Amino acid sequence: MTTAEAPSHLRENPFELAKAQLRRVGEVFAIDPNLIGVLSQCKKGVEVSIPVSMDDGSINVFLGYRVTHNIARGPSKGGIRYHPDVTQDEVKALAMWMTWKCALMGLPFGGAKGGVICDPKHLSRGELERLTRRYTSEIINDIGPERDIPAPDVGTDGRVMAWIFDTYSMNKGHSVLGVVTGKPLSVGGSLGRVEATARGAMYTIQAMAQKQDKRVDEYTVVIQGFGNVGAHLARLIHGQGAKVVAVSDSRGGVYNPKGIDVPAALAHKQEAGTLEGLANAEAVTNEELVELPCEILAPCALEQVITERNADRVKASVICEGANGPVTPTADHVLEDRGVLVLPDVLANAGGVVVSYFEWVQGLQEYFWREEEVNAKLHDISVRAFEETWLTRERQATSMRMAAYGLAVQRVAEATTTRGLYP
Ligand code: NAD
Repeated sequence: MTTAEAPSHLRENPFELAKAQLRRVGEVFAIDPNLIGVLSQCKKGVEVSIPVSMDDGSINVFLGYRVTHNIARGPSKGGIRYHPDVTQDEVKALAMWMTWKCALMGLPFGGAKGGVICDPKHLSRGELERLTRRYTSEIINDIGPERDIPAPDVGTDGRVMAWIFDTYSMNKGHSVLGVVTGKPLSVGGSLGRVEATARGAMYTIQAMAQKQDKRVDEYTVVIQGFGNVGAHLARLIHGQGAKVVAVSDSRGGVYNPKGIDVPAALAHKQEAGTLEGLANAEAVTNEELVELPCEILAPCALEQVITERNADRVKASVICEGANGPVTPTADHVLEDRGVLVLPDVLANAGGVVVSYFEWVQGLQEYFWREEEVNAKLHDISVRAFEETWLTRERQATSMRMAAYGLAVQRVAEATTTRGLYP
C-alpha cells in the first residue's frame, strides 16, 4: 500500500543536489566533462494541467509532471508520486536517480519519474480515478512499453497503476500489459512485486552482514516509515531474527529496546491506521527515532531526514536507505567521517525496479513466473550489484554511495558514447 500521510519539507533543491552528486562522480571516476554535461540534464519533461470534476460538482485543476532523464540503455522507467509537496525539480532529481539505479542493477532501462501535486488522502476513490485517467491521457504520447514505463511511488498503488493500464489500453484498442508496472495480479502484475523493494533491501543487508562476518539476527534495527517499503522491511527482517526496536509513520514512532512485536505492529497499523498506542512500546518522535541506539537505521519514508543538523547524533553504524535521498550530501560527509556505512538508495531500494523489470518482461511475453523464481532472480541481481559496489568501493577507497554512482554513471556514459551523439 502507499499513503502520503504528511508533507515532506525539502530543505535543499533535490535536482541541484543530484547534479552536484553527478559532478563529484565525474571527478572521482575521471568521466569526460562533456558527458557529465549531457547527463546533468533531463532529456524530456512535460508539465500538464489536470482538470478534475470533484464530487461536490466543482472542478479542481491539478498540476502534473512526467520527466525522462535518459534513455541511452533502454526505455525510461520510474514511479509516479501523488503528494502535496511534488515539485518539478524533485521529479527531475528522482528521474536522474532512476537512471543510475537501473544502470547499477544492470537493467535495460533509463530513468524517469512522474508526479502530481495533490493529497490523495483527501480525494475520494472517484476523484482519484478521474485524476489518474486524465493525467494518463495528458501523458499518453510520452509513455508506452518501448518508451517510458511508470510504476507506483509515494501516494500511488496497484489500483492507480490499473487505471493507467486501462486508460492507455482503451486508447490503443487492446490490452498493453507492458505500459506500467506494479499492477495488481489480476491485470498482469508480478508475484513478489508488492514487497520487492523491501526484499531487495533485506538481501542487501544480508550481503553486508556477510562482509561483517555477522548474521542478520545479530543486528538491532530502527525503521522510519511504515508504508510499502518500511512495513515490509520490518516484517522481513524480523522474520530473519533481527531485533526491530523502533518503527514509525508520519505521526511518530514506537520504541522498545527489547524489540517491537512486528506482527502486532502491522496488525495495529492495519486496524487503527496509525502506530500510536501500540502495546509494550513507548512513543518517540521521528526526530528522536533517527538518533536511537541501534546497528542499522533504515529511513524508509521521504527525502532529507538525515541532514547536517542530526548526522552527528546518529548512533547506527549502518544506514540502509529504503527511501530515495534520505541522507543529504552534507550529512553524508559527516557520516563518512564517523565511519558509518551507508547502503545507498540506488542499491538498497532497487528491488522494486528489478521486479518491475520482471513484470515488464512477463507482460511482454504474456508468460508469468512463480514467486520463488521472482525472488531468486531478485536475489541474484541484488547480491551481484552489492558485490560490484563493494569491490569498487575498495578499489577506489571511497564510499558505497560514490562507488554505486560511479559504476552506474560509467555504464550510462559508455552506452552514450557507444551509441554516439545523434545526428
Ligand atoms: P508509502 O506511501 O507506502 O509509505 C511512506 C511511509 O512513510 C508511510 O508510513 C508514512 O506514514 C511515512 N511518512 C511520511 N512522512 C513521514 C515523515 N515525515 N516522517 C516519518 N514517516 C513519514 O511509500 P513507499 O512506497 O513505502 O515509499 C517510501 C520511500 O521509498 C520513498 O522515498 C519512495 O520513493 C521510496 N521507494 C519506494 C519504492 C516502492 O516500490 N514503493 C521503491 C523504491 C524507493
